Amino acid sequence: MHIQFCGANRTVTGSCHLLHVNGLRIFLDMGLYQGPREEARRINQYLPDDARTADAIILSHGHLDHCGKLPVVVREGYKGPIYCTPATAEVARIVLEDSAEIQLEDATYINRRSRHPDESPVQPLYRPSDIPQVLKQFNRVEYNRTIDLCKGVRFTFHDAGHILGSAYILLQWDEATSSSNQTTTRSLLFTADVGRYNSPILNDPATIPAPADLVLTESTYGDKTHAPMEGVEEQFLNAVKYCIKYRSRMLIPAFAVGRTQTVLWYIQKFIHENKIPPIPVFVDSPMGVEVTRIHERYPQYFDKQTNDMIAGKDLFGLARITFATSMEQSKAINSVTGPCVIIASSPTCEFGRILHHLKFSMERPNDLLVFVGWTPPNTLGRRLQDGQNRARIFDRWYDVRCQIHTIHGLSAHADGDELIRFLTPTLRPQTTIFVVHGEANVADAFAQRLSKSGVQHVSVPAMETVTFQTPQ
Ligand SMILES: [Zn+2]
Repeated sequence: MHIQFCGANRTVTGSCHLLHVNGLRIFLDMGLYQGPREEARRINQYLPDDARTADAIILSHGHLDHCGKLPVVVREGYKGPIYCTPATAEVARIVLEDSAEIQLEDATYINRRSRHPDESPVQPLYRPSDIPQVLKQFNRVEYNRTIDLCKGVRFTFHDAGHILGSAYILLQWDEATSSSNQTTTRSLLFTADVGRYNSPILNDPATIPAPADLVLTESTYGDKTHAPMEGVEEQFLNAVKYCIKYRSRMLIPAFAVGRTQTVLWYIQKFIHENKIPPIPVFVDSPMGVEVTRIHERYPQYFDKQTNDMIAGKDLFGLARITFATSMEQSKAINSVTGPCVIIASSPTCEFGRILHHLKFSMERPNDLLVFVGWTPPNTLGRRLQDGQNRARIFDRWYDVRCQIHTIHGLSAHADGDELIRFLTPTLRPQTTIFVVHGEANVADAFAQRLSKSGVQHVSVPAMETVTFQTPQ
């Protein structure tokens, strides 16, 4: 078994690992690197050796940093299966179509800048027309169903509880023992992204069914402890009540996948439990609309609390929600004074429809801007969270008079304790663990923690090829 680490090594983006096992070449994820424009272009054009002749791609979930380079590898000639859960196939379609539009806009922007006449125009990494072929190669596999990849290699998806359809992957292969003609079964666990325990809507991460010889674990928040999930509901309820009391607007800049549905779930729960009266809700994001509808089609992926609470009826309160897909619908929301909740992208407040709503609410003292996740530094969102009292939106400066709240605890990723809890069934001295998908200092800190738990072989690989010697 060789592993070629091709992405999300000492960083949190661009998940991609190539396994060489029993003569097969199998990719785990094919994620897009997200970062500064030039660096991202350089990295995303790179494909690992002979990616087009790989035997299979196994996709953990539909986030862009796990699936976003699929159109590149397919366009370059990869014709094999792309295994994913049915919900991941749907989420990935929306994410890839959106990404293709952004790639096109990005290339157009670069080409519009003053360029030397001899320079050839920049081509987008891929175009919307590249997406249908990717979708044709999706091979949908339910959780807990084992797929035989031939040559004694098989894999199973298990629910990772991270976003709808997300999976961790357990790969097994038969390996000849040196002393006899018999074979031994070996196993590799790829955690991909692991969700939080007790989070709304989705199931907890499924218990790892058996210890693995080899583990590739994420470490995004491996050195952090999230605020407890239990506190989230009260924080959110107080914010909604404030908005109702003062008949004001609550703006929530949120990702379309996952966070938007969580917010809708909480509001529906409060109404269902008679904690608040029905309140108008606007989802101003075409992607948010589509992903919410996909959630509705997969109640079998929801946890018991969610299914009990709603009893199969209108999980997100869709009958009450106004979805804005066109710009005209989006603009119409600006004349709504409240009380109401408006969910729009982007969480950074750097771009997207949230900016139009912010303009309207920024100087209204009773309007609320509520952040429901981590906001990257050097963004308008982060500056507002940090208390900046003036903000520039498009071409005008505004005084920040609205209320600004951050609801802590609503992460889609396990923290350090939760990762340890998840990995416990496979934390044995003889397990080999590679820590991936974390900033270098975080991955190192999490690796140390794993070492202290008694695992003897823990490392944080760079982009490199590692040969895994299974103990005989
Ligand atoms: Zn993810």
